[in-house]
Amino acid sequence: MGSGAVADGACVQWGYGCRGLACVTGWESRFLSSGLHHARRDQGCGYCTFNGLVLAAQVALAAGAGDVLILDLDAHCGGGTHALIAENPHIWHVDVSVDPFDSYQPSERTTLDIVADAADYLPTIAQRLRDAQARSFGLCIYNAGVDPHEDCPEGALAGITDQHLHEREQLVFDWCRDRSLPVAFVIAGGYVKPPRMDEAKLVELHRLTLTAAARLA
Ligand SMILES: [Zn+2]
Repeated sequence: MGSGAVADGACVQWGYGCRGLACVTGWESRFLSSGLHHARRDQGCGYCTFNGLVLAAQVALAAGAGDVLILDLDAHCGGGTHALIAENPHIWHVDVSVDPFDSYQPSERTTLDIVADAADYLPTIAQRLRDAQARSFGLCIYNAGVDPHEDCPEGALAGITDQHLHEREQLVFDWCRDRSLPVAFVIAGGYVKPPRMDEAKLVELHRLTLTAAARLA
């Protein structure tokens, strides 16, 4: 990749950061890109070139948002995010995964669950959100990966269906709405490999996130 392409990519990610900033005074914001949570400070990782989640959180903090919660429900662990927020006491990280890729040792401000049974998936997310209620946040940045779906060629936990992801998105956006907590989200992990997961099916899954978010508008 040439330096121009790198610069363009950085601009896109900074654009996402600005979306997060706009969200501070709004209600819900979205950016239809993905590939963010594995990137480190000095290198990309796992299809992620820059960590737009942390960039957005830092922009929001600079604008006076108050503490920021990064909620990561992509199938894979957000090790890049964990590394980048280690020194920032105002960014918190709730990470519920189904695949150990990019796992890490959680810290005081980070929780990491790697769910192995589909029956535990939604209850684990619900419990982590209940736990997070103990703190006051000014912004939630949501990494809405759909790769926990059982038909996804990467990530995929057997038994995670469309209905699970539908209920997950309702849970997340209702939780934000009930707390008047502004939320910015990105679509994330979702991979095409016909016939189990073709493009139309993947779009259908991402629409679950958009539809749940639109109810807040
Ligand atoms: Zn993923």
